[in-house]
Amino acid sequence: MSTPRTPLIAGNWKMNGRLTMARELASAIAKGAPAGVEVLVCPPFPYLAPVAVTLQGSAVHLGAQDLAASEDGAFTGEVSGEMLGDLQCGYVLVGHSERRTVYGESDDVVVAKFQRAQAAGLVPVLCVGETQAEREAGETEAVVGRQLDAVVKAAGIQALEQAVVAYEPVWAIGTGLTASPAQAQAVHHFIRARLAAIDAKIATGIRILYGGSVKADNAASLLAESDIDGALIGGASLDADSFLAICQAA
Ligand code: PGA
Repeated sequence: MSTPRTPLIAGNWKMNGRLTMARELASAIAKGAPAGVEVLVCPPFPYLAPVAVTLQGSAVHLGAQDLAASEDGAFTGEVSGEMLGDLQCGYVLVGHSERRTVYGESDDVVVAKFQRAQAAGLVPVLCVGETQAEREAGETEAVVGRQLDAVVKAAGIQALEQAVVAYEPVWAIGTGLTASPAQAQAVHHFIRARLAAIDAKIATGIRILYGGSVKADNAASLLAESDIDGALIGGASLDADSFLAICQAA
């Protein structure tokens, strides 16, 4: 199958680093990002503005790690999609497993965030994935299907035209355990087929990223799979050389 999909390599810096490190990392990525691959960095909220300045004139995209599920208003501590847009963000992660598990975000909250992101003109990167217990119980497809369906049902299949999906098995995040290329490809294929059952064109166009302990030495084999269109990287995105090596592998 020939795919029109440009690979997307996204770095999720999580709650790491300080201002100097954020600027240096962004600067090194801006200098080293290869052509032919879309590169995205998602720094912590306070560093979005300075990183936006560092990235000016480069092809590297800026995104946030989360956004509020509501419009502007009396929501202490929250950050709206429109505010992120003001800071030059083009993307935002929604439903990362740390948000779902540590902060108790339900599918409904994830759906609201997905829709708020699009209303603000941002491209949501919808994260889905099963826990170790769910995989062992043979529930991977049921869980991933449920997380995906919640968004498709509420937002409509057309909304997926301006979105990215990231498959991140929870058991592989930050653990050093990676899904094998075949395991990841099987779930990516499942996701694309589920979307194709509703709209073949959208399913063909959408980028599905893999995330979970992606490193410079395992990226190429994962990215070689036909339904893996990029990667969402945590730990290895904090080191410019490792992150750029993954970008090169795409
Ligand atoms: P990891 O994180 O690469 O450190 O496993 C991935 C993620 O949480 O997006």
